[in-house]
Amino acid sequence: MVDLHIHSTASDGSLSPRDIPPRGVSCSLHAIALTDHDSVAGIPEFLESAAACGIPALAGVELDTQFEFTDLHILGYGIDIRNQALLEALAWIRENRTARNQRMLDKLSTLGYPLELSDVLEFAADPETAGRPHVAQAMVKRGYVHDIREAFDRFLGDGKPGDVPRTRLSATEGIQLIRNAGGIAIWAHPRAKFSGSSLRKITPILAAAGLEGLEAYYSNYTPTKMREVLRVAKEMNLLVTGGSDFHGTCKPDISLGRGMGNLRVPDECWAHLLERLNTRNR
Ligand code: AMP
Ligand code: ZN
Ligand code: FE
Ligand code: FE
Repeated sequence: MVDLHIHSTASDGSLSPRDIPPRGVSCSLHAIALTDHDSVAGIPEFLESAAACGIPALAGVELDTQFEFTDLHILGYGIDIRNQALLEALAWIRENRTARNQRMLDKLSTLGYPLELSDVLEFAADPETAGRPHVAQAMVKRGYVHDIREAFDRFLGDGKPGDVPRTRLSATEGIQLIRNAGGIAIWAHPRAKFSGSSLRKITPILAAAGLEGLEAYYSNYTPTKMREVLRVAKEMNLLVTGGSDFHGTCKPDISLGRGMGNLRVPDECWAHLLERLNTRNR
């Protein structure tokens, strides 16, 4: 069992990159990958800790990209975290976050729920990766909402009155950025938000842009969704990966490796990913 989709305090998770590998060991995981949103800042610490714990680990990242009228998440595995183009693009995305956070706070203030930027940054280990989850926590602390879920349901979810869309790369740009940094691009949780027919329509377009796989195992998939993703990957000869999307206490119902309880990502996902990376770097 492995977990290839994990967030730390380098984005919106609650465990530090250093604390994730020991947790992986205690959960009996055979390999892990850190995939923070728009940041590779946690990777050195994560890999160092993984080596000390003796758990195989891979550098990763999760990019929130634009595809047609919606957002689509791309995971990048085995990226070179010193790649200049990648670092510049991530820095640009994070700079845009700061302006966007202020616009969200302006909207919330107009709605009668004033917050300062400092209230939000209190919940972000790295101010540059602060976003909606941190605004949600600040709203809970002020007593505006009972919990993070209510903050998203009423104010911060996509298209809700406090939400401001982020500046994004296109899906094609995101995939190419990952490839050019030596990584493998995987479509994250394709059946979490997209229908089965969208999956069949969009996958060939992304594959033509350089996508190499689909995330077939994921916390909130039904068995039917999982089988559907596996089938499309097989038909198109794509890799399959999987992970919990663990965020720690920020998403308390998802546990490392096991998701909502039934997740089990096979070791062969890890083996195939490494095989592909090794043939590339030879
Ligand atoms: P942002 O990058 O600032 O747009 O925030 C996106 C993050 O918010 C996602 O990665 C999730 O961790 C979290 N998120 C999005 N929608 C919800 C929701 N409905 N409930 C709880 N967390 C959410
Ligand atoms: Zn997140
Ligand atoms: Fe995602
Ligand atoms: Fe994620």
